[in-house]
Amino acid sequence: MSERVYLDWNATTPLRPEARAAMEATFDCVGNPSSVHAEGRAARYLVEQAREQVANLLGAEPRNLIFTSGGTEANVLALSPRLSLGTDKAPRDRLLISAIEHPSVRAGGRFPSESIEDVPVSSSGIVDLAALQKRLDALRATEKGVRPLVALMHANNETGVVQAVADAAEMVHAAGGLLHVDAVQSAGKIACDIGRLGADTLAVSAHKLGGPKGVGALVKRSEALHIDDPMFKGGGQERGSRGGTENVIGIAGFGAAAEAAAKALAPSARRMAELRDRLETMLKAVSPDAVIFGADLERLPNTTMFAVPGIKAETALIALDLAGVAVSSGSACSSGKVAGSPVLAAMNVAAALAVGAVRVSLGSATVDRDIDIFINAWRNLVAGLSKGRREVAA
Ligand code: PLP
Repeated sequence: MSERVYLDWNATTPLRPEARAAMEATFDCVGNPSSVHAEGRAARYLVEQAREQVANLLGAEPRNLIFTSGGTEANVLALSPRLSLGTDKAPRDRLLISAIEHPSVRAGGRFPSESIEDVPVSSSGIVDLAALQKRLDALRATEKGVRPLVALMHANNETGVVQAVADAAEMVHAAGGLLHVDAVQSAGKIACDIGRLGADTLAVSAHKLGGPKGVGALVKRSEALHIDDPMFKGGGQERGSRGGTENVIGIAGFGAAAEAAAKALAPSARRMAELRDRLETMLKAVSPDAVIFGADLERLPNTTMFAVPGIKAETALIALDLAGVAVSSGSACSSGKVAGSPVLAAMNVAAALAVGAVRVSLGSATVDRDIDIFINAWRNLVAGLSKGRREVAA
């Protein structure tokens, strides 16, 4: 295959060299981390080292981190009526979720569908905190003793818009609730400190920050938070929160990737923002009518989602792919399908524009030349489409 340009880092990232090296070094580790002999202790050491590395990235205590199979499992694990704080074991009876959450949150975890409510978003893609406050107040006024759990993502996977999580946390806590934050897209790209965000629980995924696929973590703000109904009950691993022998190789790769991401965080964010801004300027030069979603808001430094009226994402994706450029339309998590974006629908973007939404997401290995290749391919696509239209009209 000829040279490819990968601009779909929000879908997944290539392995960081540090993660690859850590995983390769772990292949010969034969022990089970639960075994007491030297081989077991060597495996345990690797798991605990990674726990520290990932916890450091998130400003958490290593003992409050539960390794999972990824972001999806971390979200589902947290979204439980039986997420308890201290000795208060009464179940959470309401789950409030923003309308732009990832499907793994939108599905509501272990809450029955009748106790799940939506929190709306503005047309620019920011969660409507006034509406959240109003709903929390109404719940308190009408349903005494109601105990909400609120789920709000740190940054949106499609638009990259960063949400006002710390403000939401204050509201939620004042209303006697708990806040779960899906930080799958933000961790490793921007500062993501569980204490500063005010989150009670935080979900992260290795493959979004240069680690392997199939490993993630749920982080708790304090040891007093407890998931009383783990999804996998078993041998007591992960302090009883997730049974099953740990994915030692994946976890080692996750740890190394998290450490590398933490070290490079600020310069990498600056570099990606420069590349992204350059991409947007050049895009506007080729397609002046391009609409960039969330352009005026704080966004992840690596993400651009745009649409050009009259250009369908499906057509664009195929043409760009043939030109050697990998991007996606909306959320590509459940790839293979080019479907309308529920995020843009929640933002009330007209369907005619939303069908054109293309997401370009950059990463640590993206360079100027990749942006040039993308813009060239886009220019050719636009030229090809207008030539086709002229021929049809003639
Ligand atoms: N949350 C967000 C915001 C995501 O973007 C994704 C994946 O794209 C997930 C959760 C799911 O993570 P994983 O692929 O590790 O299950």
